[in-house]
Amino acid sequence: MFATCKTGLGLKQSIEQTSAYLESHHTHTTQVHNTTHPNTKQQKIHSIPPPRLLGRLPDCAIHQILLFLAMEGGDTTSNGGGEWLRPMDTEQLRECGHRMVDFVADYYKSIESFPVLSQPGYLKELLPDSAPRQPDTLDSLFNDIRQKIIPGVTHWQSPNYFAYYPSNSSTAGFLGEMLSAAFNIVGFSWITSPAATELEVIVLDWFAKMLQLPSQFLSNALGGGVIQGTASEAVLVALLAARDRALKKHGKQSLEKLVVYASDQTHSALQKACQIAGIFSENFRVVIADCDNNYAVSPEAVSEALSMDLSSGLIPFFICATVGTTSSSAVDPLPELGQIAKAHDMWFHIDAAYAGSACICPEYRHHLNGVEEADSFNMNAHKWFLTNFDCSLLWVKASQANSVVDFKDWQIPLGRRFRSLKLWMVLRLYGVENLQSYIRKHICLAKHFEQLLMSDSRFEVLSGKFVLRFAVGAPLTEEQHVDAAWKLLQNEASKVLGSM
Ligand SMILES: *Cc1c(COP(=O)(O)O)cnc(C)c1O
Repeated sequence: MFATCKTGLGLKQSIEQTSAYLESHHTHTTQVHNTTHPNTKQQKIHSIPPPRLLGRLPDCAIHQILLFLAMEGGDTTSNGGGEWLRPMDTEQLRECGHRMVDFVADYYKSIESFPVLSQPGYLKELLPDSAPRQPDTLDSLFNDIRQKIIPGVTHWQSPNYFAYYPSNSSTAGFLGEMLSAAFNIVGFSWITSPAATELEVIVLDWFAKMLQLPSQFLSNALGGGVIQGTASEAVLVALLAARDRALKKHGKQSLEKLVVYASDQTHSALQKACQIAGIFSENFRVVIADCDNNYAVSPEAVSEALSMDLSSGLIPFFICATVGTTSSSAVDPLPELGQIAKAHDMWFHIDAAYAGSACICPEYRHHLNGVEEADSFNMNAHKWFLTNFDCSLLWVKASQANSVVDFKDWQIPLGRRFRSLKLWMVLRLYGVENLQSYIRKHICLAKHFEQLLMSDSRFEVLSGKFVLRFAVGAPLTEEQHVDAAWKLLQNEASKVLGSM
């Protein structure tokens, strides 16, 4: 991706060659940022590589070509009295980086010894109230991490972590994060780093095939996938697209009439998205889920709410179904909700943020039956798919049909990270079969927990009274951790019941 020019090919010559290349590819503007420095020993040209994966770049897609000239390896430079900061000294990076990897590996080695939950409000006492004027050493920083930070970390990666939902890290995901930090691109458009956009397109196609999503969600159809930061952003983006579509059809003044449907088990991210998108709060329809059907929403209840809204002149425009609700892993009836959406020309969004990972296993794929009807589908690779936070996958059926993708148009922010690297590395370094058995192992452990529960007559599974929520999914969890958690629950139950 960059040409080193020490001897032979001179800098000027390289620029000319690069410019000639760019001109032959119909560029409109070329800006040269020449940051040549007197102490430069070696210069590198970071040039735009030829389009490799998506074919030739069409004229209209190029807004601006930036040619970055960067220097590296200069001697310490003087700023008059002291020394300039050299924040990317490669030897320092190598040394400190190795030490940090050791630190992280040691953390994981001892993670089980930490209490999963830590105490709040302690840190202010321990740290100074302003930033240091002079640099500190890495050693003193490591000490502070050990003594002051780790005591306040909730250890999501602990094998004893069973709260909320899993947040998986893995060696592959971790390496991907490192590499993404290394390139540190701001990949808002194709040209800002073609590999980032093109890899994202490819990896999301891979993933769509793993989940057997309908072909309209693939990049060679009108649709495609994109990595969002979180499921909250994914549902907001879908809602905004749906709102635009509805307003185009019904006129701008109809905003106050647009109605959104979801169940009371739907993640609160949807309500937040409605607030941001300007959906009137009285038009956010929360349908009470069916507790006899493990808290899935009933299509009849949705239809009923919808008919009432129609008869009062409102415009139903968005249904959000969940595959694996956060609280109880309920699966809403996708085919029926999809039919309702279709009949009323509504946008149908599926939130499979938490449980979607399981659908890469053929035996759980049936939970996605009905996804053919969806306009958008989302799942979080950063929950239960060994991909370090953040990595939320969103597929849409219809995107703007441009010949190159500029992902800035698919998300809220302009800037974006090279997130596809870590997902690609997870898929490549583990392979689908291992990932499937990883999911299966957690489901086995959850079943083991269910057995433990059922063997104690004081507990029932989903009694509707006291509800214990136990989320297995941490990468390090083994049977002994589930057993230990169960012991703890039993002891607590004995205390509670003993005092009654
Ligand atoms: C976790 C979760 C979300 C929100 O996830 P973020 O990525 O943190 O926004 C949304 N929906 C479901 C079903 C979830 O489990």
